[in-house]
Amino acid sequence: MIVKDNRTRENLIEAGRRLAEVLETLRGRTVPGVTAEELDDLAERLIREGGDEPAFLGYSPEGAIRPYPATLCVSVNSEVVHGIPNESRKTLREGDIVSLDLGLSHEGIIVDAAITVPVGRVSDLSKKLLSSTEAALAAGIAKALPGNRVGDISHAIGETIERAGFAVVKDLGGHGVGDLVHEEPFIPNYGREGSGPLLYEGMVLALEPISSAGKAAILLAPDGYTYRTRDGSLSAHFEHTILIEKDGPLVVTRQ
Ligand code: MG
Repeated sequence: MIVKDNRTRENLIEAGRRLAEVLETLRGRTVPGVTAEELDDLAERLIREGGDEPAFLGYSPEGAIRPYPATLCVSVNSEVVHGIPNESRKTLREGDIVSLDLGLSHEGIIVDAAITVPVGRVSDLSKKLLSSTEAALAAGIAKALPGNRVGDISHAIGETIERAGFAVVKDLGGHGVGDLVHEEPFIPNYGREGSGPLLYEGMVLALEPISSAGKAAILLAPDGYTYRTRDGSLSAHFEHTILIEKDGPLVVTRQ
């Protein structure tokens, strides 16, 4: 989506505020003993109570075997992204790390954000994986300036993850968002500075570094959605929807 007028900008900001609020509520409920399905039910209820629509429920990504059957993606430990909460029958346990990825449509504007949450006390490796992946998101956002290129974001994200000793999951990445769940341009989480499409004022992008504590290779489960690391290592994922403005990026899904 390209924001061209103030009313669209205000609606986008409100959409992001609402999504951030739901994600923060979910973060507080991500405790030992809760099930992925309970988090999904809560996310759907909170979104609908606000008069909005879940953006992922019923969405059919290109090449998918069926529409996505839930509101939230809940990906635990070695699951990378797109874990299906209402089919996995997963109960969260102390020490897990859990990616919560959520899309919301407000006034027809779609926003997308994700956090990876530690369940109770987690290992030092998990803490470092989370903090580095979140730092990679911040580094990518800082490069989302008019006149820069997609590769500037990609490079900043990839370098931050690799400098911390982790691997970038290369098969997945960020994307344009706003009118649809996935729009052009694709934003790899690695790349060369100064390469790729030009960034300009008004662009709405979802940036989403995805890391692995082991190797980068991933597998798609038979459910058609859940990706996991091939070597079983932990994975983390953070995402914000941003608007590129003249003076720099506005993070619309930050609380
Ligand atoms: Mg996304």
